[in-house]
Amino acid sequence: MLERIKSRIFKTIKKHKLVENRDKIFVALSGGKDSATVLFALKEYIEKNNINCELKGMHINFCLNISEKIQKIVEKQAKLAEIELEIIYLKDLGIEFQNIIKKTARSPCSICGVIKRYLMNKIPREKGANKIATGHNMDDFIVFFFKNFLNKNFEWISKFKPKIESEHKKLITKIRPLFYVGNKECELFCKELGIEYTPPGICPYTPFKSKKWYEIIYNIEKLHKEFRYQMAKSIASSTRFFENLYSEKEILECKLCGEPTEQEICGFCKLKLMA
Ligand code: SF4
Ligand code: ZN
Repeated sequence: MLERIKSRIFKTIKKHKLVENRDKIFVALSGGKDSATVLFALKEYIEKNNINCELKGMHINFCLNISEKIQKIVEKQAKLAEIELEIIYLKDLGIEFQNIIKKTARSPCSICGVIKRYLMNKIPREKGANKIATGHNMDDFIVFFFKNFLNKNFEWISKFKPKIESEHKKLITKIRPLFYVGNKECELFCKELGIEYTPPGICPYTPFKSKKWYEIIYNIEKLHKEFRYQMAKSIASSTRFFENLYSEKEILECKLCGEPTEQEICGFCKLKLMA
C-alpha cells in the first residue's frame, strides 16, 4: 500500500512537472499528516531522480495556546527530513489572530486562509523560492468541489488542479503533490514511515461541520470503488471549462504592502488594520 501511495504521488509530480531542476521549493508545514507526506514524498522523489532542487520548510506559528506544541512537531519533522525550517510568528507581523476573529463576522478559517495564502507566497518568494508545496489532498479538493458547486461558486473550481503557475512576477507557483491521494493514504504514509504528526482537529477552530462531507465521499467509495480517484481526475480535467467562464482579473499591487492582489488593499493589510 505504501508503495502504491508513493507511486501515485510520484506520478503526479512527474506528469505535472511539479519538481524541476534548479527549483527552490518551500513546503508549508502545519504539523499535520498531509504536509508531512508532501515533505517526505518530495524529498524521496528529488533524491531518487537526482534532481538539482532545494527543499525548505516553512511554518506559521499562530501564537495560540496550542501553537508551541504544534511547532515542536513541525521541528521534529524538519529534523527527520534534514531540511532547514523557516518559522513565522504572527505576533511579530502585528497580527493577533484571536483579536481579529472577535472583530469580524468572518469565520476563523476564512481569516486563517487569507493569512496563510499571503505568507505562503510572500515569505518563500523573498527567500528566493519559485514554488510553494502545500498539503491540500484529494479528499479536500473533492469536498471543496461539492461545496463550491452547490453554491454556484465556479470560479474557485478553476483552481482545483495539481499546479497553479505563477501569473505575476510577485506570485510563486503553487504545487499540490497530494492531488490524487487523500486523508486515508496520508495517514498510512506517515504511520508506515514512523513520522510524528499532530492529530486532526488540534486547531481550536476546526469546523466540525465539514466532517460530514468527508464521511459522504468515503461512504460513496464503499459502494463505488475508486470513487475519490475518479472524481479527482474528473475535477482536474474540468477546470478548463470553469476557467473559461471568467474574464481574467487584473492583478494589482497592494497600496500598503506592494503584494499582489485584485483589490486596492490586500486582504492581509485589511486584517492588520483591524488588529
Ligand atoms: Fe486555520 Fe484552524 Fe481553520 Fe485550519 S481549522 S483553517 S488551522 S483556523
Ligand atoms: Zn497589503
